[in-house]
Amino acid sequence: MPYEDLTCKSKMLFERACRVIPGGVCHNLRYFPPYPFFVSRAEGSRIWDEDGNAYIDYWMGHYAHILGHRHPEVVKAVSRCIGEEFYHPGLVNRYEVELAELVVELVPSAQKVKFCSSGTEAAMYAVRLARAYTNRKIVLKIRGGWHGASTDLSCGISHPFEVSETDGLPSGVEENCIPIPFNDWDAAKSVIEKYAEDIACAIVEPVVGVGGFIPARKDYLENLKKRLHEIGAILIFDEVITGFRIGPGGYQERCGVIPDLTVLGKVLGGGFPVGAVAGRSDIMELSSHSRKKPDRVLMGGGTFSCNPVSMVAGITVLRILKENPGIYRELEEKAQKLRRWIEEAAKGRLFVKTTGAGSLFMVHIMKEEKQIESPDDLFRYTHWELRDTIIRRRLAELGVHMIHAGGSLSTAHGEEDMVRTAEAFEKLFSELKL
Ligand code: PMP
Repeated sequence: MPYEDLTCKSKMLFERACRVIPGGVCHNLRYFPPYPFFVSRAEGSRIWDEDGNAYIDYWMGHYAHILGHRHPEVVKAVSRCIGEEFYHPGLVNRYEVELAELVVELVPSAQKVKFCSSGTEAAMYAVRLARAYTNRKIVLKIRGGWHGASTDLSCGISHPFEVSETDGLPSGVEENCIPIPFNDWDAAKSVIEKYAEDIACAIVEPVVGVGGFIPARKDYLENLKKRLHEIGAILIFDEVITGFRIGPGGYQERCGVIPDLTVLGKVLGGGFPVGAVAGRSDIMELSSHSRKKPDRVLMGGGTFSCNPVSMVAGITVLRILKENPGIYRELEEKAQKLRRWIEEAAKGRLFVKTTGAGSLFMVHIMKEEKQIESPDDLFRYTHWELRDTIIRRRLAELGVHMIHAGGSLSTAHGEEDMVRTAEAFEKLFSELKL
C-alpha cells in the first residue's frame, strides 16, 4: 500500500506540526518526504506509528539503544529511581560517581570525566579545553564529520563542503575551524603543515558517522596523533556513536590509538539524554571549580547535567555490556550477515556496497565501482541523495525504518528481522530505476 494510505494519522499530525514548528520537526533528520510517520510506541527491535503500522527499526533512538527499545532492566531501574528516589534534585548524588567510575574503567583514554546533557555540548567543551590547554585557536575537523550544531564546529559537515554550513556564524568561526580529508594522510598533513603553529586540536570520529559509517585506517589515526603531538596540539576522538557500541572501550580500544580527550554520548545515557568529555587528567582538571578566572575552562553548567535518570539508565546498560562482552561479537556477526544479504540482494540488478564497523552499517548504491574510504568518496561515487528520500520511504512501506539507508543493530534484533530487512531491500532494488 502507498505510504500516504498507510499513514493518514501521521499526515494530519504533520500538518499540525508545521503550523507550530518550523518545517514540522525539531531535528532535521527526522523529516523525510512527503512527511515522517509519528511514533506511538517502541519495544525491542520495533516501533509502531500512530496508524498502528509496525517497523523494524535500525535508527534505534539515534543509535542510543544498543539493547533495543525499552529494555526491561532499564525500565525497572529508571522507574525505581523516579518512583522512589528523585528525578531531578539538581545536586550531586551517588549515580554520577558510579557512572564516572564505569567510564574511567572502560574507556582507555578516560582518566577523568565530566557529564553534560548532550554530545553537542560535550564536543563544544572538548574543543574549548583543547584551545585553553594549547593556548591556540585552530580546530581541525574531518570533512563530512558531525559533532552537533555548536557554533565552533558548524563547518565542513555536509555536501558541498565549501559552502557555509549555516547562516548566523560570527566572523572568525570558519577561519578557526578547518576541515581535513578523512583517511587521506598526505592531504590531511598538508593542511596541518599550513597551520601548524596555530592548531589546538583535531576532532575526529574514528568511524565517521553521518558521513558513511566508514572506519578510519589505523595508520591515518597514528600519523595524525603523532604529528599533532609534535606540533604541540592534541587529538580528540568523538566517540558519541562508537563509544560503548563498537566495544566496551569504544573504537580507540579496538584500533589501539588512544586520544587525549574523548567525547561520549548516546549509549552512555542508556537511552536518556547525556554527553561527556573524558580524557587526560591534566587537561580535564583545567575545568575544576578550584581554578579561578582567567585560568579556568568554564565547563559543565547545565540545569540537567548529570541528571540521575540518565545516570541510572547508563549504569544499567554499561553494566550489562561489561558483564556480557560476547554481545559485541554477536552484534558484529549479525551486522556482517545483514550486510552480506543486502549486497547479495542487489546482485545482477545494481552495484551496492555496504560500509560499517561493529553493529553499525550503511548501504550505498554505487555510481561506479570505487572504494568508499571517506565522506568525499560517499558524495562522489554513490547515489547518496536517494538515502533519505526514495529509499527511506519505500523501506517504510515495506515495514523497515532506516535513516541514511543504514543504522545499528541491537541485541533485540533477531534473525527474522534481518531476513525481512534483506527481503525489503531485494524488493526495493528490483524496483529502483536510476
Ligand atoms: N558527535 C557525533 C559523532 C554524533 O553522531 C552526534 C549526534 N548524532 C553528536 C556528536 C551530537 O550529540 P547529541 O545529538 O547528543 O547532541
